Amino acid sequence: MSECLFCRVVAGEIPADIGYHDDEFIAFRDIDPQAPVHILVIPREHHPTAAALAAADSDLAGRLVATATSIAEDAGVGGYRLVVNTGAEGGQTVPHVHVHILGGRNMTWPPG
Ligand code: AMP
Ligand code: ZN
Repeated sequence: MSECLFCRVVAGEIPADIGYHDDEFIAFRDIDPQAPVHILVIPREHHPTAAALAAADSDLAGRLVATATSIAEDAGVGGYRLVVNTGAEGGQTVPHVHVHILGGRNMTWPPG
């Protein structure tokens, strides 16, 4: 059994609210949403970080961004933010590369 949380989601060992899947990627709702729409898009294949993915397979990295954009465009929000936290200091807590789609509220910074 994999020790990677998101590999376990891919394997169906941990339940997730999966709204999209294809041969290469799955997307599911974040368990602790930071916005009304908060979706995670991950490759089925394990790569620890965006940098590792880009180095190993830049075409897959490109398709990950394209897939996240397509899911975000279909989410019915006026705009959105794609976030890829990288490394512990970058706020990454799950070492399996994932794109956060955040939207459904005003995402401008600073708020207000
Ligand atoms: P990051 O901090 O960028 O690594 O993002 C990891 C994200 O995974 C966080 O936003 C968590 O809320 C989310 N998360 C952790 N466990 C689960 C889970 N079992 N199902 C869905 N989302 C999860
Ligand atoms: Zn993994």
